[in-house]
Amino acid sequence: MTDESSIAGSRVGWGFDAHRLGGDPPILMGGVAVSESEGVIATSDGDLVAHAITDALMGACVLGDIGEHFPSDDPNSENADSMFLLRQAATMALASGWVPVHVDVTVIAESIRVAPHREEIRAQLGAALDIPLEAVSVKATTTDGLGFIGDDQGIATVAVVSVQATP
Ligand SMILES: [Zn+2]
Repeated sequence: MTDESSIAGSRVGWGFDAHRLGGDPPILMGGVAVSESEGVIATSDGDLVAHAITDALMGACVLGDIGEHFPSDDPNSENADSMFLLRQAATMALASGWVPVHVDVTVIAESIRVAPHREEIRAQLGAALDIPLEAVSVKATTTDGLGFIGDDQGIATVAVVSVQATP
């Protein structure tokens, strides 16, 4: 980064993730087990909230994407702790001059219930990104029975992360 003005101010990054249902339980979201009876199919721990936020954070800082930094064919990715990867992404963001200040994530699922775990997920994400609880939003919606999500074949998340240039 040679031009200092290029890292002034604030930025926003966007992330998306989806996984097929059917792997070993539990389903993790933000490090929190939201289902003890179902799982998702993934090389890592399949934490799709952590994955979407990691990609959003990397997007805000123009650091590439999660697959580039943590390839799923890397033996180290086997059952990887995705919240650890998110904290690593936050460290990379800081090193490139950005600090996360707000996150908004939406889980899109039909039968998997997020609401009972919302506060715990918010707390975990706030701790991982070192931002106050008031700046961590976790929402959930369905597709009204439509598509692969509506058929409970899979679940998805979208996330937006805002960052500010470090002083
Ligand atoms: Zn994922």
